[in-house]
Amino acid sequence: MNFIETRGNDGKYSEKVSFSEAILNPISSFGGIYSPESLPDLGADFLNSHLNSNYKTLARAVLSAFEIDIEPAVIDEALALYDNFDNASNPVPVVKVNDDLYVSELWHGPTRAFKDMALQPFGIVLSSLAQKRNENYLILAATSGDTGPAALETFKNRANVQVACMYPDGGTSDVQRLQMVTEDAPNLKVIGIKGDFDDAQSALKRLLGSEAFRSKLLEKRINLSAANSVNFGRIIFQTIYHIHSYLELVRQNAINMGDKVYLDVPSGNFGNALGGYYAMKMGLPVEKILIASNKNNILTQLIKTGAYDLRSQSVIPTTSPAMDILKSSNIERILFDLFGNQRTRELMQELDNDKYYQLTDDELSKIQTIFAADFCEDDEGKTYIKQAFAKGYLMDPHTATCFKAYDTCRDKKLKTIAYSTAEWTKFSPVIANALTGEIDTHDIDALESIAKEANIEIPGIIKGLFDKPIVQSTVIDKKNIETEILNFI
Ligand SMILES: *Cc1c(COP(=O)(O)O)cnc(C)c1O
Repeated sequence: MNFIETRGNDGKYSEKVSFSEAILNPISSFGGIYSPESLPDLGADFLNSHLNSNYKTLARAVLSAFEIDIEPAVIDEALALYDNFDNASNPVPVVKVNDDLYVSELWHGPTRAFKDMALQPFGIVLSSLAQKRNENYLILAATSGDTGPAALETFKNRANVQVACMYPDGGTSDVQRLQMVTEDAPNLKVIGIKGDFDDAQSALKRLLGSEAFRSKLLEKRINLSAANSVNFGRIIFQTIYHIHSYLELVRQNAINMGDKVYLDVPSGNFGNALGGYYAMKMGLPVEKILIASNKNNILTQLIKTGAYDLRSQSVIPTTSPAMDILKSSNIERILFDLFGNQRTRELMQELDNDKYYQLTDDELSKIQTIFAADFCEDDEGKTYIKQAFAKGYLMDPHTATCFKAYDTCRDKKLKTIAYSTAEWTKFSPVIANALTGEIDTHDIDALESIAKEANIEIPGIIKGLFDKPIVQSTVIDKKNIETEILNFI
């Protein structure tokens, strides 16, 4: 399968590339990104034949339907990393919470957030491509707290790859920061930035698109790529668990094969939801995809009104920081898929120039046949956390936003798969506050009181972080990022 450019071709980039090209060089003409030229049709037979497949078997089948140019042995090695999740035979448990609401838990990997679902296998795929081509890569990652740890974890000590990971200093939880600053490997550099996540992501996009930066790297025979979900290598692994979760509902006798469900996705950069969109296009019976946001409700606005309006907006820090995003990168792939490259280029240019675009009525109604959206205030989120806990389910504040969308966005009484994107350990002060009213400045106090309240143990990999030495201490102004990275390599 080939990948084509979301904003059309400017003559400098290839119009069509293979999967491996698209993941090694994710940026295309006019600052666009690569999207699949067509999608495989999985159909009812595929779903039926995989009703009893385990996660890895299903994943292998989905990837093979995409016809990507990665050797089966590499794919096997990549998927084998799911064996290190909490339950090797089912890395993604789906739990019934109440009535029609089922939660698909995407955080049972090494860094306790959903980013491991894609980044674990992606690390193997990218590093083995680099080795095979005898090339070296610098991978840039911008993180609000979960991508960073997952990218560092997957690439640490891998051959032919170095990682520079930028995070907003003060914008992450203690656990997230410790997961990054205690990562000790010569091929990893962690950089705290005085700014917010959008600053880190803008710096990443600027560097990816900068000829000057690229040629400085090439002098050292280093190529440039990215670990964010602009990279399709992430998205492809994020289609699989939507299909798996649906099949889980069939296995649990919650639905019959063919019944429609809602997918309910806590969204920021829209990579998770995009995976759901592709799964739906590939034939998964989905009624609609519910997009849950926090107070940074740009996606709710877009889906309700067709306006993407950044003019009077700045990022508001919330208790679900992984969704404190206004420039949501993967919306571009939806625009491209629904409206084509010319229109996408026009809209993205308007957004660059005027910080605003407005979809036509026709375009909006097309969007609304696929998506519905709502946002959840921090206080509402805490109420949902408390209510769910009272019924025996402990969840993080990102997952809580889905509970709001479940309450407000469904117009049919269909079973709903809400995605839980982080373990409670990653955002413990908010959860402790929701459960007991206490205010903790440090994660360790909150972790202990939740563990006590819920009568569970703090997982060893989280507890151990607090005793590890800090080896990455760089915090800089955003204007010095390029220099810092060049010094590192
Ligand atoms: C990254 C992340 C999200 C948002 O996912 P997108 O694919 O960027 O929409 C939500 N919750 C958590 C915990 C995350 O780490």
